[in-house]
Amino acid sequence: MKVYDESNVFAKMLKGDIPVNKIYEDQYAIAFADIHPKAPVHLLVIPKGAYTDFSDFTSKASSEEISGFFKAVGAVAAEQGLVDGGYRLVMNTGRDGGQEVPHLHVHILAGKKLAF
Ligand code: AMP
Repeated sequence: MKVYDESNVFAKMLKGDIPVNKIYEDQYAIAFADIHPKAPVHLLVIPKGAYTDFSDFTSKASSEEISGFFKAVGAVAAEQGLVDGGYRLVMNTGRDGGQEVPHLHVHILAGKKLAF
């Protein structure tokens, strides 16, 4: 089992130790722009709880946290005007998934027709 690393960059954002330009916040999640965008729109949504990745989240978080988090992802997409054009959700998980930051996050990619 992975131990949550309290010093990861998203944990520092949640604690207010480093600045974050939030585009969305509710009791379950915050969202902000990815610092190295891979599409015209590239947003990240992270839960407020300390979860390393998708497996950690789905095995430990309450049903309320899980539904609240995914509702937040949908709200961000709607508020950012992405529903009509569509978007892609990506959750890199663990080593083979290419996850770099060990705090669960959903990438929202949009703004052009994305190649697979
Ligand atoms: P992943 O590879 O799925 O762990 O993605 C981590 C993402 O976090 C990458 O796309 C990074 O560009 C992004 N990232 C890392 N540090 C920051 C930061 N300080 N602000 C915004 N995005 C960041």
